[in-house]
Amino acid sequence: MGAASGRLGVLTSYLATRNRRFADREALLAWQRPRLQRALRRARATFPGYREVSSDDLAAFPLMDRETWLAGFDGLNDRGLNLQECLAASRNAEAGRGFGTTLRGVSVGLSTGTSGRQGAFLTSPAERSRWAGTLLAKALPHGLLAGARIALVLRAGGPLYAAVGSSRVRFTFIDLYSPAEQQRAELVAFAPTVLAAPPVLLDQLAAARRDGRLAISPAAVYSIADVLDADVAARIEAGFGVPVGQVYQATEGFLGITCAHGTLHLNEDLLVVEREDIGDGRFTPVVTDLFRTTQAIIRYRIGDVLHPAAMPCPCGSPFQAVDRIEGRDDDVLRLARATGGTAPCFADLVRGLVLGTSGVEDFRVEQDGPDHLTLAVSPEAAWRAAATVLESGLSGAGFVAPRISPATFTPPDPTRKRRRVSRTWQ
Ligand SMILES: [Zn+2]
Repeated sequence: MGAASGRLGVLTSYLATRNRRFADREALLAWQRPRLQRALRRARATFPGYREVSSDDLAAFPLMDRETWLAGFDGLNDRGLNLQECLAASRNAEAGRGFGTTLRGVSVGLSTGTSGRQGAFLTSPAERSRWAGTLLAKALPHGLLAGARIALVLRAGGPLYAAVGSSRVRFTFIDLYSPAEQQRAELVAFAPTVLAAPPVLLDQLAAARRDGRLAISPAAVYSIADVLDADVAARIEAGFGVPVGQVYQATEGFLGITCAHGTLHLNEDLLVVEREDIGDGRFTPVVTDLFRTTQAIIRYRIGDVLHPAAMPCPCGSPFQAVDRIEGRDDDVLRLARATGGTAPCFADLVRGLVLGTSGVEDFRVEQDGPDHLTLAVSPEAAWRAAATVLESGLSGAGFVAPRISPATFTPPDPTRKRRRVSRTWQ
């Protein structure tokens, strides 16, 4: 597909997304139903991995997570590609920072999981155009006609964005791994109206802007590729003087985005989202992609901890509203209950306690045993107070207080996913 048809594909999905309106939840479900049926019927006919599935009902398809999906990789793409050749080709390309490898007409990207084995994601030119058009439709505050200069600071980019540029909308891709001074010089030269970057980097850029070291004034700022905590969001908003939105994007797909009211909505016009209840009202999304055809994303368990919004959003969207993303479900601590047994202790409780301690600016907590945590605090002088608050807060929430040992705080690395709370003990 050439640049012209690529641009047409972007525009088509841009317009379709902008023009799509659902009166209510029922209208959305009625719209999803035939598209889901089509996707599932095609999956059984196309992907060798689904030959044994006995019907076109979603429930007949196996639940997958990252591990099982990667194990079944060879039978879950329509190009007959195997995981080893995709990984090998992609690693060669990344080593030269050339970005983007093409095999049998599809781009191969490496996934950036925080743990586990490395994965590969395949996208056709049509799928990338659809992705870009949908993203533009949902992310541009004033639409395409108003024009935009969009700067994306990401780990990998390449052909995904290059195909999208036009006279009204310009993209620049800035390598997350390039030196900070170079990133800032490129940003100033480009003068973005829309800036999207991982939250750790936005935090640093906001500080630079506040100190007069970064003369850019984007009208919209988006956090991508990692969890955006409320304290970090507040600093970014103060630094740029505009609200920070969230693009909830994983290699598995474009999962959600913040609306004009600041609420994160799941993209239920791209995905069917089943909710796997993980306790305390939280859920992890199990997604089925309605449009991707190169690779099967069917009943794929994303593994993020989502906290659904209690109230419908005033924007009127029938898409599931999410109060916050709390990180990965392996970031959930498992602690003994005072009443017996163990229970999940969600990252936001820990975060609230430690960041609520006076003097604490940043922290990291790791559970490395059934009753042991390490706590790193910045500045170090606040460690004792933070440990005391954490211990009493966990007791207050009904847990047997774990032992807490000090660890050295290292500042967050913008090129890596930030995990303030994690569990290495299984
Ligand atoms: Zn909304």
